[in-house]
Amino acid sequence: MTKFIFITGGVVSSLGKGLGSAALGALLQARGFTVRLCKLDPYLNVDPGTMSPFQHGEVYVTDDGAETDLDLGHYERFTGRPAVQSDNTTTGRIYTSVLQKERRGEYLGATIQVIPHITNEIKDFIREKDGSADFVLCEIGGTVGDIESLPFMEAIRQFGNEMGRERSLFIHVTLLPWIPAAGELKTKPTQHSVKELMSAGIRPRILLCRADRPIEKDELGKIALFCNIDDNKVIPALDVSSIYEVPLTYHAEGLDDQVLDCFGIKDAPPPDLSRWEQIVRRIKNPESMVRIAVVGKYTNLADSYKSLNEALIHGGIANKVKVEINFIEASVFDEEDVAVHLEGIHGILVPGGFGQRGAEGKIKAVQFARERKTPYFGICFGMQMAVIEACRNLCNMPDATSSEFTEEGTHVIGLMTEWTKGSAKEERGVNGDLGGTMRLGAYPARLAAGSRVAGIYGTPEISERHRHRYEVNMALQETLESHGLIFSGTSPDGLLPEIIEYKDHPWFIGVQFHPELKSKPLDPHPLFVSFIEAAVRQSRLV
Ligand code: GLN
Repeated sequence: MTKFIFITGGVVSSLGKGLGSAALGALLQARGFTVRLCKLDPYLNVDPGTMSPFQHGEVYVTDDGAETDLDLGHYERFTGRPAVQSDNTTTGRIYTSVLQKERRGEYLGATIQVIPHITNEIKDFIREKDGSADFVLCEIGGTVGDIESLPFMEAIRQFGNEMGRERSLFIHVTLLPWIPAAGELKTKPTQHSVKELMSAGIRPRILLCRADRPIEKDELGKIALFCNIDDNKVIPALDVSSIYEVPLTYHAEGLDDQVLDCFGIKDAPPPDLSRWEQIVRRIKNPESMVRIAVVGKYTNLADSYKSLNEALIHGGIANKVKVEINFIEASVFDEEDVAVHLEGIHGILVPGGFGQRGAEGKIKAVQFARERKTPYFGICFGMQMAVIEACRNLCNMPDATSSEFTEEGTHVIGLMTEWTKGSAKEERGVNGDLGGTMRLGAYPARLAAGSRVAGIYGTPEISERHRHRYEVNMALQETLESHGLIFSGTSPDGLLPEIIEYKDHPWFIGVQFHPELKSKPLDPHPLFVSFIEAAVRQSRLV
């Protein structure tokens, strides 16, 4: 019977609840259990698709085309279980569903209220996971005490009551701040936060205490006493240098043992963590280092390229090298010489992006990579910029551009108006909604025999996740191929370019999809492995 674990957070945001949940999922998996993770986000947006990556970090896209919270990326990277739309909900989505039912008259004239209608809708979201795994881990976004999270707290309180202690568990993640003047880690915010949770009727049985240094035994005992929690269930969660160490450190502190103890499970085998240990060993003992420049736009919030950073690290782990990522704000190339920034770099990556700002800088980075034979990886927008660069500088089309930027010029990148999804045709207009209307999710692509990508993937057909509104104009194929830029992957019907590559370049690949979303530490994405391998070769040359 499925057991439900709810993870809440207190004191401050950004405590790494998502990571902690993912690591617990990995630990339970390593003990032979099946797990499923989901996230309840209290914000009002229907999904994070329209949120700025500056504010909210990256939008994580699932195979089934959902634009979801980036924590789902952590879940998938740590457990290997592909995330799906129904793993994530938000206040906006819950209300939309309730209001639609109200309009359809499904509540038979009742007055619609937060309790029970909203809370029931939330409980239904959780309950539908029953039976899908041995453990369902539900992370509640935000911090205890937030106005938005109240209906979620009430819903999980009720759900916990209905399931009983044998099938439900509340874990609370808190912070012990270090106060330099006192020379102490303080427990008071944790006490208050647990009190806040208890006032919502939720009694946590495990506390995960984040701290930047070891927590004294006395302090742990004090927390246990004041918060009414078993001594061995107040678990230190100290900062570590790599996120992939988290499963190991949580296990060493007894987290998985205590979770099983809460459910009365006594006969579970110890976890097999050898693969995690190997990864951490490789991260800590790299044989050399490569420098990768990521020329992007949202470079001042690390979370806006979360999956990309991780995929580069995975490529490094596979090649036993440390990957140093230099984020370069593309607009600096409007004034400064690209060579000053890109000389001595072993690989250049232009990631996904939207809008004109910074585009010219990205095009200059592409030109540098092509001419100087530096490995280049263009992802989505990065592929589109590579096509514009080729058109302008190789194919004598000086006004080549994208219709995303301007109505003038020659549109070598244009708005997609229709494409096939399975056997159906999806259509979009210029004035349609912005939310959830891109070409989203997994689509297959066919690889050209003998191409570099076919060799990298080792298979003629692939499936990758997409999130874009514009596409490279297929009519350019002949012109570009005559200048050495090959369309080495297309949609199975041959209508949409999916991958481009230069024949006579050490490593130059552009993809219309987001391979970073599927890379995992235990199963690194072949394109990232190959790109970093090329960067290692480059590092021996420069
Ligand atoms: N802005 C481009 C498009 O919509 C690229 C999107 C992306 O890089 N994810 O097609």
